Amino acid sequence: MPIPVSQPIAGPARRCGTCTLCCRLPDIEELDKPANQPCRHCNQTGCRIYEARPQLCRDFLCLWMEGHIGPEWHPQDSHMMVYGQGAQVTVLVDPAFPDVWQRPPYSDQMRRWASQAEPKGGYVIVFIGDTVVKISPQM
Ligand code: SF4
Ligand code: SF4
Repeated sequence: MPIPVSQPIAGPARRCGTCTLCCRLPDIEELDKPANQPCRHCNQTGCRIYEARPQLCRDFLCLWMEGHIGPEWHPQDSHMMVYGQGAQVTVLVDPAFPDVWQRPPYSDQMRRWASQAEPKGGYVIVFIGDTVVKISPQM
């Protein structure tokens, strides 16, 4: 994970609560789920098959849940979910809020992540529907 916040941010434990962004924004091949469409098992506030959900759902936590990014990145408030994929930090933007990633404090933070990740071969990619943007540290 190239985000330079290696230690979780101290504070109260975080919970998914009624957030379902990771059941809606990513494509999930195992569930035959395209990007930006709700999983067939997802209702408005959670997973209908929670006790029997697939292992990949059990294993996944976004970086906000892991405590690596600040409270302003709460997925329901920011309308974005962030996760690490090897050298790549992936930011999925809710297409209903397509400009949110360009606003402070998010834009500044993503530039900082990109700047700090670059020397280690890392990078930050933002997906907004079909649009893909690589964040430049100099943007
Ligand atoms: S996007 Fe993060 S906070 Fe929201 S449900 Fe998924 S893991 Fe939980
Ligand atoms: S199976 Fe449940 S936890 Fe997994 S993506 Fe679908 S709704 Fe979300």
